[in-house]
Formats: sequence, C-alpha cells, structure tokens
Amino acid sequence: MKPLEDRIAKQVASIPRSGIRDFFELVQGRDDVISLGVGEPDFAAPWHIREAAIFALEKGQTSYTSNLGLPSLRESISKYVTKKFDVKYDPKTEVLVTVGVSEALDIACRALLDPGDEVIYHEPCYVSYSPSIVMAYGKSVAIQTKLEDKFALLASDVEAAITDRTKILLLNFPTNPTGAVEPIEELEKIAKLAIKHDLIVISDEIYSELIYGENGIDVGEHTSIASLPGMKERTILLHGFSKAYAMTGFRLGYSCAPHVLTEAMMKIHQYSMLCAPIMSQLAAVEALENGDAEVERMRKAYAQRRNLLLRKFRKMEVPCFSPGGAFYAFPDIRQFGLSSMEFAHRLLEEESVAVVPGTAFGPAGEGCVRCCYATAYDELEIALEKIGNFVSRLKS
Ligand code: PLP
Repeated sequence: MKPLEDRIAKQVASIPRSGIRDFFELVQGRDDVISLGVGEPDFAAPWHIREAAIFALEKGQTSYTSNLGLPSLRESISKYVTKKFDVKYDPKTEVLVTVGVSEALDIACRALLDPGDEVIYHEPCYVSYSPSIVMAYGKSVAIQTKLEDKFALLASDVEAAITDRTKILLLNFPTNPTGAVEPIEELEKIAKLAIKHDLIVISDEIYSELIYGENGIDVGEHTSIASLPGMKERTILLHGFSKAYAMTGFRLGYSCAPHVLTEAMMKIHQYSMLCAPIMSQLAAVEALENGDAEVERMRKAYAQRRNLLLRKFRKMEVPCFSPGGAFYAFPDIRQFGLSSMEFAHRLLEEESVAVVPGTAFGPAGEGCVRCCYATAYDELEIALEKIGNFVSRLKS
C-alpha cells in the first residue's frame, strides 16, 4: 500500500497548517496563561439572541431551510446592509446565507476561479485567505502592506500587482490582524482600478461595526467599496455575525452579490452545506432586528480596552499605531532584535501571556505581534503589566 501521505491531494498537501493554531497548541492545557491570542469576543452572544435560538428549538424549528437561507433573514440582511453600507440588494436573488464568512469566502473563490487565475490580497491578513485561494486552484498574489503606511493598501501597489491573469481583488477593512482601516482616497482609487482592469472584488467586512473614531471612543466612519460608483455590479460583499454580535459558535455569515455570482455560489453551497443551521438563522434575524444596542455596548467596551492598550504600549515605549477598527493591536517589536516568533515564545514562557507572532499572518507581519483585546479589562491590565515587565527586561 502506498503511504497515506501520498494520497493527499496536491492542493491540500501544499498548504500549511494555520500558524495561530500551531502556536496555541502550546497554550492548551495551561490555565496560568492570559491569552490575547485567538480573535474571538470574550462576550457570550447577547441574551435576547440566545433566547431566539432556544425558542426556535422549543418550537421544534429544526428543519432544513431554503438553500439561500430563510426569506425572513434575507429580508433583514438586505434591510441592514442598505442602512449600514448604503447598497441595496434584492433579498430574493442577491443574498446568500452561509456557514460563517469562512464558507462564503471559500465558495466565492470556488465559484470564480479557474486554475491559475490570480487573486490579489493584502498581507498581513487573515490566515484563511491564501489557503482558500489555493484550494480553489487559484494563485495567491500578496501585496505586503507596511507599518509605515499604517498597513493601508496603496492603490499604486495594487496596480503594480495586476496582470492579465488577475481575476479577483480580495479586501478586508478593518483588517485582521492589524486593525487598519483604509483611507477613503485609496479605496476610491482601488475601485477605479477594479473597474479599469475589470476585476471582481471580494470585500470581507466582518469587522465593519467595530470602528473607532478620532477620539478612540465614538463610532468611526466605514465605507464599503461596494457602495462606490460602478462597484456593486462587481463586488461580493461578505459579512457575518461572529465578531460584532459575539456569535462565533453560531457559524453564520452571508454574501451580497449580483444575482449571477450569488447563483454560482449557491450551487456550491447547495451541494456542500445545503443550508446554514436554522436555529442560527432565527437567532440572526433577532440580532439584526434588535441587536444594535448590544453591538454598541460591546464596541464601547472594546474601545476602552483599545485605549488602555495604546496608553500602556506608549508608556513602555513600544510603538503601536492607533488601530481604527476590529479588536486587534499590532505593536512594533523590532527594537528588541527578536523575531516575532521568538518574542511570542519568550513572552509565553517568561510571563505566561499569549500573543500571536505577526508572521502567522504572512511575511509582512514580521516585526510585530498581534494582541487581541477581546479580553476582559482586568485581565488585559494584568497582561499588559506582564508585557511591561518582559519588555523592561529585554531593554535592560
Ligand atoms: N474574515 C476575517 C477577516 C476574520 O478575521 C475571520 C475570523 O477570525 C473570519 C473571516 C471568519 O469568520 P466566520 O466566523 O464568520 O467564519
């Protein structure tokens, strides 16, 4: 018999395991560790949303739904997206409910890519982007964004990366892992490039509720590229419930896209997932219809933690640009002469604090570590004190 390793499809064998998971295996089973690691809200989903799921079960609502998702949920999504992003989608033909943004991303890539088609995206980025492209037989083309530019994606870099094989431009603002938001002038230039070169844009807007304005407390501005002139017809807008509503375990997301693209994605979804879980869908209707106040409560809590973190890093003289969104900070640790992996390992061993090495998000992450501040304020204070001790030792 041939070794089982030789039976694994080449595409799958070629992709690495997630650097985050690898690092967090070291943390497993250690209850002394404060984790600023995994990008998951520390809040439970708001009670009224959980209640909607419980109520669904009590009423025996345990069936499949339409492949596209419950009509009531698609109506709510369309209404919400119109209000939030100022783009109108037909709930009957342009909205698809998925098992998280993860599934939406996967089926968007599979629906669009032929072998060798290129997808441009910006690094450091969410760990799933390149694997999702490669598993759809596409070629991933990463643009390295820079700390010096506050990790904004520059239109000039996008233009330089476009070839005649480029099919998709994949964007994520606010960005995981940097918390970067895109300056509107660059976003407008990028939209013009997408039109000029006839690209499809996949815009992952999963953190778009978690935006911090100039004073670091109020809600900041967020513009979706889908809302810019000429963009709705070439954009797949991805969004979900995991972050803003603290619903990671519900596994629910959605895509909004022109009918032809929605239909192609739906075909894959239909044969692979069939539909998203009905209890999660019913909970999501409750989230969209009545969840704004809870989202704002959590956003404000993140804003306070973000500001604490920035204050403390400033005091430690560890440069950290002010992230405009999400719940991540990406401090610059280059002064210590350690790789981001060494820094994270030593911090874990010496102070029992877990952060993620920047390189887990691509080579452009070297020199930084990701600190997720979706962690209780008191815990965060302790973690920052420990990071302060560690940093002082490195400096002395
Ligand atoms: N997109 C980004 C940028 C993320 O950071 C994450 C999760 O961390 C996801 C998508 C996955 O989201 P979901 O839980 O909806 O699958």
